[in-house]
Amino acid sequence: MKIILLGAPGSGKGTLAKQITKDFSIPQISTGDLFREIVKTESPLANKVKEIMKSGALVPDEVTIQIMKDRISKPDCEKGFILDGFPRTIKQAIELQNISDIDIVILVNLSNDVIVERLSSRRTCPNCGEIYNTTTYKKESCEKCATKLIQRDDDKPETIKNRLEVYEKNTAPLINFYSEKLFMVSSAGSPIETYAKVKTFLQDLEDKN
Ligand code: AMP
Repeated sequence: MKIILLGAPGSGKGTLAKQITKDFSIPQISTGDLFREIVKTESPLANKVKEIMKSGALVPDEVTIQIMKDRISKPDCEKGFILDGFPRTIKQAIELQNISDIDIVILVNLSNDVIVERLSSRRTCPNCGEIYNTTTYKKESCEKCATKLIQRDDDKPETIKNRLEVYEKNTAPLINFYSEKLFMVSSAGSPIETYAKVKTFLQDLEDKN
């Protein structure tokens, strides 16, 4: 199954992707994670990407599309994948059509007020990428790999506002672009509740094919 997860930053795409990966045995491809790996390297590209991410802007389409092309061509993507955070512009979506077909686009819906609240209290494991929220997880290190959790630079209040504006301007138009493949889910409830709805939908889809 080839899935796109669409939704504003902080709407819960990453958490959902991890659950789908486990049950449906397809890899999560997060452009944000790929860029965070690039930033760890010492290169001119790393410095450029770091500054862009810190501001909440988008990495240029050419760079993003190339990185995605390389990742999708790996053998683990043959049976399908979940794209988490890609495409984020109409240009990326059009390019994606030349690379691969897509079965379904899941739109994760959440109000901006709740997004700001959740992003401000989000903590991330810089080692394994696991995501936590300080309202429900009180420890300072990752449950899975014991690495000290961090607050991403772009989860700080000054950047969150910009990321939401960038989403409205560049990414929200994709809802219309994918109108025929869209499954909408609210992530206002718990991650378990949100995933239950998605899982039922995906299982039905699998049974039909
Ligand atoms: P995310 O972890 O998905 O919230 O992404 C973090 C940051 O990585 C974004 O704010 C962008 O700066 C960059 N990024 C991730 N995915 C894309 C994309 N598809 N196109 C351009 N920039 C992206």
